[in-house]
Amino acid sequence: MGNEEIITLENVSKAYATGAPALNGVNLHIKRGEFVFVVGDSGSGKSTLIKLLLRELIPTSGHINVMGYDLGRLRHRKIPKFRRNIGIVFQDFRLLKELTVYDNVAFAQRVIQVSNKDIKRNVPSILATVGLAGKYKAKPRQLSGGEQQRVALARALVNRPGILLADEPTGNLDPKNSWEIMKLLEQINENGTTVIIVTHNREIVNAMQKRVVTMKRGVIVSDEEKGGYADED
Ligand code: ADP
Ligand code: MG
Repeated sequence: MGNEEIITLENVSKAYATGAPALNGVNLHIKRGEFVFVVGDSGSGKSTLIKLLLRELIPTSGHINVMGYDLGRLRHRKIPKFRRNIGIVFQDFRLLKELTVYDNVAFAQRVIQVSNKDIKRNVPSILATVGLAGKYKAKPRQLSGGEQQRVALARALVNRPGILLADEPTGNLDPKNSWEIMKLLEQINENGTTVIIVTHNREIVNAMQKRVVTMKRGVIVSDEEKGGYADED
């Protein structure tokens, strides 16, 4: 794992056109191989943080470095190459509903022009990793929510990103499927990927004993190794 810093935010603020700043002077340092939960009330800035890490947004002030890329200096034409380093999963899965499980995952490889030979090796391998080996030909609507999120996870991972971001990945899942997805994320982390998960799942956060970053109104109010979900005030 080493001590290499893979994500650095220095004094990062983000103001949208209206309202109070969504992020206000955030400092955050994440090392390669870490597993980090980000928690906090709705509107506290968690999704803004994720979008900044993806370079979907640029900060109003401050500096962000992700895997050696200084995001404030990153040229537009370099953004696709940068994003290959990052897998992303959302609450609502965002699968292509007319495509099979296989093609949803293969699509991510086709976009970056992986050869057919390699796609035929990589897609079954990642589908097996997420526990969907028997479901290649299914369409998303034929799958449970937990299975759809596994497809989304396979798609996020098939290009072997160094970082996996998940924005409320269990928000639409029942407790059993939520646990299965979190265990899968833990396994992915154990295989070397840096994992950052935004979640409201108090029970899972408290049980897993990982690093927990808590946000409130655009500020990091606590950052604890083996942390828990802060009590409501
Ligand atoms: P969270 O993911 O923690 O719920 P967000 O990062 O989505 O929080 O939002 C943080 C704050 O920024 C909220 O007050 C929200 O209303 C505001 N916000 C988010 N996106 C936009 C936008 N596109 N335009 C204006 N305000 C926004
Ligand atoms: Mg959000």
